[in-house]
Amino acid sequence: MSESTMDRLNALLPEWLETSRLHTGQGKVASYIPELFKASQDDLGIHIMDAEGNHVSAGDCGVPFTMQSISKVFTLILALMDHGEEAVFFNVGKEPTGDDYDSMIKLELVEPGIPFNPLINAGAITVSSLVGGDCKEEKSRRILEFFRKLAHNERLGYNEDVYRSESESGHLNRSLAYFLKHNGVIKDDVEDVLAVYFRHCSIEVTCADLARMALVLAYNGTDPITGEELIPRRYVQIAKTFMTTCGMYNASGEFAIEVGLPAKSGVSGGILTLVPGQFGIGVIGPALNRKGNSLAGVHLLERLSKEFDWSFF
Ligand code: GLU
Repeated sequence: MSESTMDRLNALLPEWLETSRLHTGQGKVASYIPELFKASQDDLGIHIMDAEGNHVSAGDCGVPFTMQSISKVFTLILALMDHGEEAVFFNVGKEPTGDDYDSMIKLELVEPGIPFNPLINAGAITVSSLVGGDCKEEKSRRILEFFRKLAHNERLGYNEDVYRSESESGHLNRSLAYFLKHNGVIKDDVEDVLAVYFRHCSIEVTCADLARMALVLAYNGTDPITGEELIPRRYVQIAKTFMTTCGMYNASGEFAIEVGLPAKSGVSGGILTLVPGQFGIGVIGPALNRKGNSLAGVHLLERLSKEFDWSFF
C-alpha cells in the first residue's frame, strides 16, 4: 500500500507543490526575530519518508531553516523521559489556550499560574528548565544530541545568527520567563533557561530532517529504518495529542478538520507532520498565514490529506 502511495506521490507532488506555491504571495515572512525575515517569501518544499527510507521530495526541500516551535515537541519528550509525567505536568497544563502563543494573560488570570500547555512559549520555556542537566550547556548538549539521534543526522547544529537575533530581540519571552520565575514555576536562573530555549529554537534542519524525526513519531517512538526504540510509546502518544490540540497555534481545530494529522509548525515556516504507521513529513514555506502557519504549506497538506484520505478522524 505504501509503495503505490509513494508512486502516486511521486507523480503528483511536483505539480501540486507548484500550485500551492502560487499562494505564497498572500503570506508574510516572520520579522519579529529580525534574522528570520531573510527567508524567501516564495520558498516551498516538502519531504515525505516511509518506513523503508524511501522518500519523495519536491520544491525547496533542501533549504535549511530553524526549527523554532517545532523543537518544543521534542524538548517536551526529553523532559518526560528525564522526569516522568507527574513532574512535568505539575508545572505545565494540558489544555489549549485560544490565546496567542506568546501571551501571558492566562498566567496572571488563571490559578495556579502555570502555562496552559507545553507548546505555547510559556510552556516550552518551562519545559526547557525541566530538561535534565546541571547547567545550560549540559541541557543544550543533551537536547542537540537527542535531536541528532531522532533525525539520524550527526551534523545537526545551530544557526548562530538566528540564535543571537532571537536572544537580542526576545523581550516578550524574557518577560514570560521572569513572570514564571515570580510564580515559582521556573526554579533555575531565568537567563540560563532562556538560553536553552533560544538554542533549541535555533537548531537548523531541512525538510528531510523533519521527516525523519516525524517518522519516529509515526512509528510510536521506534525509528522504523534502524529498528531502534528512541522514545517510549506513552510519551509519543502525549506529544501527538498536544500536536493535534495545540500544534498549529489557534488554527489547530481548523487543521484537524481540514488535514486531520498531528502536526507542529514554527514561525520559520516549517511544519512537521506524520501519517501514523506510514509517513514522516517535513515542510518549509516561510510565508505565514494570519494564524502563523506556513500558508502554502498548509494548502499543500490539505490537498494531500484529502487526496490520500489521511485524516485519522
Ligand atoms: N523562538 C520562537 C519564539 O519564541 C518560537 C515561536 C514559534 O515558532 O512559534 O518566539
